[in-house]
Amino acid sequence: MAPIDDPFKRRIARYHLLEKSVCRRCGALNPIRARKCRRCRGKDLRLKKRELTK
Ligand SMILES: [Zn+2]
Repeated sequence: MAPIDDPFKRRIARYHLLEKSVCRRCGALNPIRARKCRRCRGKDLRLKKRELTK
């Protein structure tokens, strides 16, 4: 893969890496907009957010 030089694309990639929701039941990653877990269909999703080191 080529390195991402475009700051805009990098921001998009970073957004998709961080803006995820995690199921509290099975721990599956789901899209940020998901209301139900795609694996266990549970509704107990939490947002996955953390500080960026870079
Ligand atoms: Zn789940």
